[in-house]
Amino acid sequence: MQNNNEWQAAFTVIKQLENAGFEAVVVGGAVRDALLGREVHDVDVATSAMPSEVKGIFTRTVDIGIQHGTVLVLVPEAPVEVTTYRTDGEYTDHRRPEAVQFVRSLAEDLKRRDFTMNAIAMRRDGSFVDYYGGREDIEACVIRAVGEAQARFAEDALRMLRAVRFSAQLSFTIEPATMQAMREQAADIEWIAKERVKAEFDKLWVGKDVHNGMVKLQESGLAAHLPGEFKAEQWQGFCTQDAQVGWAYFALLQGGNWPEVLRSYRLSNKETSFVKAVLAAFEALKVGWTKMDYFTYSEVELGAALHFAKLQKLHVEVTLDVMREAQASLPIRTRNELVVNGLDLQKWSGQKRGPWLKEALQAMLEAVVAGEVENDWQDIKAWFERLYEEMKSLDNTFEQ
Ligand code: ATP
Ligand code: MG
Repeated sequence: MQNNNEWQAAFTVIKQLENAGFEAVVVGGAVRDALLGREVHDVDVATSAMPSEVKGIFTRTVDIGIQHGTVLVLVPEAPVEVTTYRTDGEYTDHRRPEAVQFVRSLAEDLKRRDFTMNAIAMRRDGSFVDYYGGREDIEACVIRAVGEAQARFAEDALRMLRAVRFSAQLSFTIEPATMQAMREQAADIEWIAKERVKAEFDKLWVGKDVHNGMVKLQESGLAAHLPGEFKAEQWQGFCTQDAQVGWAYFALLQGGNWPEVLRSYRLSNKETSFVKAVLAAFEALKVGWTKMDYFTYSEVELGAALHFAKLQKLHVEVTLDVMREAQASLPIRTRNELVVNGLDLQKWSGQKRGPWLKEALQAMLEAVVAGEVENDWQDIKAWFERLYEEMKSLDNTFEQ
């Protein structure tokens, strides 16, 4: 666990900071996840060196959040985020402070952190600095605020949602006094920018125990102060590795109101299109997927729709294997694979472009996907000539 590139890089950086006379440790999520035996990627370093001192010690650095004291240090193993020990300035409106003060004391830095499990530091020699019993809480699978929960949530209301997110990620409980403070201050979540709220949900959806998170979201009262409906029982058994799938299921549970609800969480256009596709695939599944459905939707979209059908206890015949098999045996996987294009159709018909062309191309695609005609130039030509005669006799799309 601690011998991947990210850890190696962090230890290289710590050593150099120590050689220059400063103190430096690994903190936050990396220490927590290492203790939990989870895979760790972001190994963050905290140090007593001021940002300018950090920049003086390393030859290659990038300012990525200098106002918060974070400098990216580039060492051969991997880039490392190095943040100067700090305390947070005045809090206003239950949001993160604008200004921070740099300090030389690790104790001060750990004090500003949200939960005991996130307030453990690890030295280069593997020893821990753990003033708040974080290791004990990890052992007991408990999320507990550092210091007085009420005060900590009053400083930054997002922390309440972070507690919920961690309960889904780690399948932990929330310590009673911490939960009590959440119940009392749940309404303050409305102060928080929706972008920060969304980022927590992105992590919640891919948690190993989303249902636990949703139970906590309801219990704490946070659910009532966030856009949309949250019914914990509907999340029983939900599991994904893709946050977009979480948003899609959340959308499904909102009914017709979903576009408005999702808009309030500021999903990107790409995420919204994905949600739309999954919901359409889910509707199609209710009547049974056609070859065109297998062609239209991606494996992830179909897989998500199938997962939702199971969660909703719908009776469907299709399984993941059947679905993959059906996709694999399609004659073509993309439109580009068609051997005939719009120019061919114009040439064969002698007609100018117009709405007919789009219709004919779509009919051709559907016929090829359905296996009614081979994806072969001659076969499609013969097929088109029949279609063209029909189109001519059916309406006056074409000028005679
Ligand atoms: P993840 O695995 O999702 O990255 P993380 O614990 O590393 O989890 P980050 O958001 O990367 O979470 O934050 C890094 C550390 O900074 C946390 O472990 C915690 O010590 C501290 N922290 C982050 N956000 C807050 C906050 N809102 N209030 C107090 N401390 C925070
Ligand atoms: Mg992190």
